[in-house]
Amino acid sequence: RMKSAASPLREVLREIHAKYASLDDGVVASYIPELAKANPAWFGISAVSVQGQSIDVGDSDQQFTIQSASKPFTFGLALEDHGREHVLSKIGVQPIGEAFNSITLDQVANRPFNPMINAGAIAAADLVHGKDYPERVTRMIEMFGRYCGRTVYVDNSVFTSERMTGHRNRAIGHLMLNFDMVSDQLDETLELYFKQCSLLVTCHDLAVMGATLANGGVNPVTGVRAIDAEYVKDLLSVMHTCGMYDYAGEWAYRIGIPAKSGVGGGIVAVIPGQGGIGTFSPKLDVKGNSVRGIKVFEELAQRFGLHVFEAD
Ligand code: GLN
Repeated sequence: RMKSAASPLREVLREIHAKYASLDDGVVASYIPELAKANPAWFGISAVSVQGQSIDVGDSDQQFTIQSASKPFTFGLALEDHGREHVLSKIGVQPIGEAFNSITLDQVANRPFNPMINAGAIAAADLVHGKDYPERVTRMIEMFGRYCGRTVYVDNSVFTSERMTGHRNRAIGHLMLNFDMVSDQLDETLELYFKQCSLLVTCHDLAVMGATLANGGVNPVTGVRAIDAEYVKDLLSVMHTCGMYDYAGEWAYRIGIPAKSGVGGGIVAVIPGQGGIGTFSPKLDVKGNSVRGIKVFEELAQRFGLHVFEAD
């Protein structure tokens, strides 16, 4: 349904990349010194189809930490490990018009509002199975490896910074422990969550990850299944309603495709049945979304009618 593709997609992506490379708004995340080292000029755009073809423009192989763009995928692993009913007893699917690191639980069930904010992501990490902590880490990293189609690694200096400064995430974790939303393995779960945020990816990887979800859970490049087909719609739903922090509603209205951003500057987006798009540019707006990334998607959505509710 990529309609009105008058010029080939590669040319369009090049043109959009050139157009927004001069856009200099926003600030690089600096809550930990490691992230502040990112080069603000970095800018990549990648698209991968459900047939496994890819187009990469700009700094598409520059590695950066995945951060919150990891959240849908760990939610998927929690669903596979426990099933929908149990997961939904610990994590809601309700958007919240608050910042991603909000220390808030819902008033009725004391659950984190959704798996795309830190509270819900920590609760999802808590649900990752394993006989011990190393096995939980391995299972999580292997899961990301299936989505990316390669072995992925943790950036150890980012991980160390996250865990040394992660007091707010610890506070969120302890609030949830108070309400039995997470288990008493919380300290390990927080370590797991910090590792998850510190995984190194490229914007090409993000596009492959998006294409895997667009393709019913099978990585179209490797042919390897990354998630049960049954749960793909769960991930896409929360990405659609909650994926872009407190810009999520605006994004769903204006751009209209499931997506998730991270403070490393990445955005992963899914065009169901068609492919994935990844963007990377580290300068963020006040809500924590990549400034250039948002522009790229606004323009792509307009030019190709990507919005899922677009009339054909
Ligand atoms: N590591 C960050 C945190 O937990 C991830 C935040 C993000 O990308 N929004 O605070």
